[in-house]
Amino acid sequence: MKEIFPKIIGNEELCARLARSLLSENPDLPHAYIIEGAYGTGKRTLAIELAKALVCENRTNPDAPALPCGECRNCRNISRGACPDLIEIGTDGKASVGVDAIRELRRDVHIYPNDLERKIYIINDAHTMTVQAQNALLLTLEEPPAYAFILLLCENSALMLETIKSRAPIIRMKPLSPEDTERAMLTADPSLELKKRTDPSLFDDVIMSADGSAGLAIDLLSGKEAAKITECRRATEKFCELAANTAKKAQLLIHVTDVCTSDRENAKEQLSSFSMAIRDLVLIKRDQDAPLRFYSDRERALELSDSMSLRRLLTISDALLEAITSLERNMNTRLTLISMISKF
Ligand SMILES: [Zn+2]
Repeated sequence: MKEIFPKIIGNEELCARLARSLLSENPDLPHAYIIEGAYGTGKRTLAIELAKALVCENRTNPDAPALPCGECRNCRNISRGACPDLIEIGTDGKASVGVDAIRELRRDVHIYPNDLERKIYIINDAHTMTVQAQNALLLTLEEPPAYAFILLLCENSALMLETIKSRAPIIRMKPLSPEDTERAMLTADPSLELKKRTDPSLFDDVIMSADGSAGLAIDLLSGKEAAKITECRRATEKFCELAANTAKKAQLLIHVTDVCTSDRENAKEQLSSFSMAIRDLVLIKRDQDAPLRFYSDRERALELSDSMSLRRLLTISDALLEAITSLERNMNTRLTLISMISKF
């Protein structure tokens, strides 16, 4: 059985769906797709692999081990960034993809491909396209040359005009599971293996904080945010442990005011982290296999969840959300925290 999109981690359903059209003699793909997903979820990797699959010399070869094969001339040229018929555009360091870049694309699209049978365009950060740029692109999407294939990578398709969306179906990248996030990180940068070995708990912390984005996890691991994340997560673990024990309300108040009063933004972040952890405890109470966003240690989450009633967890969860809203309305941080704990 042929391996499908071997370089794409997670998103199996999506890959299988794309492969069904690609494996046929005449792939019945539309001329454009919007690939939507949060920062760092692998949109560009999918775009590159999709481009390879479309022009792979072994696309319909039943004996090829994978689609794309990764070994033919076309696959290798794309991997090396040496394919003249794969054109990438983006913001070029500016805040948005402007109309000039799209006008250039519109001129270029009418020039026949050099080397391949297709000409493939990847528009990075397509959600930043100005309305003018989107309208200019629309003209190409309405009547593209038969060989053109356009991939719009975007973090939020709500920012795209309806007219664009009606001509470019949306492929949605799913957030990765913690295991897949780790796999994607190590695939993207094998040197991270060393970091994982030297500080496994930090590695774990950034994966859980990145919420399914391997790119974000890599950024977090290399930036100065890493120490802050660890601190925030340890404070959250302690919060849940104290909250699980009704006799420790006084200590809980001291802990919460201690970690939340430095500044308002920090307090909101810390409360959001508490809220995410409590949400995990609610979910795991209902379903032992529920996907968790805070706890990487499922056993510990189960144990804590068992020690609290569902009613209590929901009360805490509501009080946390209420406190976050109060802080957003610029209420006094200390008073907000005291009032929150009194509801637990
Ligand atoms: Zn190939």
